[in-house]
Amino acid sequence: MSDADMPDKPGKASEMHFGGFRVRTIVDASFALDGGAMFGVVPRPLWERVAVPDERNRIALVSRLLYLEGEGRRVLVDTGMGDKWDAKRRDMFAVQSRDGGVVKALGRLGVDPEQITDVVLTHLHFDHAAGTTYRDTADELQLTFPAALHHVQERHWEWAFNPTMKDAGSFRAEDFSLLAGSDRLRLVKGRTQLYPGLEVVPVSGHTPAMQAVRVGVAGNQALFVADLVPTSAHLRWPYIMGYDNEPLVTLAEKQRFLLPAAADGTVLVFQHDPEIVAARLRQTARGVEIAETLEF
Ligand SMILES: [Zn+2]
Repeated sequence: MSDADMPDKPGKASEMHFGGFRVRTIVDASFALDGGAMFGVVPRPLWERVAVPDERNRIALVSRLLYLEGEGRRVLVDTGMGDKWDAKRRDMFAVQSRDGGVVKALGRLGVDPEQITDVVLTHLHFDHAAGTTYRDTADELQLTFPAALHHVQERHWEWAFNPTMKDAGSFRAEDFSLLAGSDRLRLVKGRTQLYPGLEVVPVSGHTPAMQAVRVGVAGNQALFVADLVPTSAHLRWPYIMGYDNEPLVTLAEKQRFLLPAAADGTVLVFQHDPEIVAARLRQTARGVEIAETLEF
């Protein structure tokens, strides 16, 4: 049964408001990655209780994006998996577009790709940024959102062209090199307010200068932390991806972001969780846990 056949669950809001922005989530695609790599040092008998692996040891994930309207802007946070997939890699990562992907999802909201004013890229790993470009009928790369200003942390931009052997497999130049030297690229340095009520905050550990996105005002905020907490299972402090360049830094960053979020009721959005879209947290003796789940 596809998502489109499913009736909306009772209580599901189509959008939430944070500050001056109306916020929706969009699932662009589903995919799967090795469960061991997703949970780092945590042994399989523990992680398989929260994420059941398939026969190739992969766990189900989604690519979830944010779409924001407010302050005269139409903003997309990350661009998803795109459609530049050959058969081998599509099979390796079990990539399946969800209901036609992000462009179709925006179309159902009455928004054309040309109307997107801003694309905020949390980082340039393919499962976050591949939808930034597509190949046209002449096999030329084109920007999917040609009018949008693409906001990327400068330090991360430089890293993406010179990654280490450990994370080189996560970057594909065809996803973002078209932006190089273009007036559609805005390199951001550190914590920056893009528009009133929309802020990016660098996060370390996963990859240099990933950026979290904070929407709203104090007391009414959503926080999109990308791969700092890819699924709700990663709320547990030691559940840190093997992909991360600096796992101990990720641990410290999780505490820096999640403890205040639990204290002030910030809504945390899970970018890769196939079931849980978002949640408010509470602090426990051992860390944080979900207090309330939300769907929008
Ligand atoms: Zn990543």
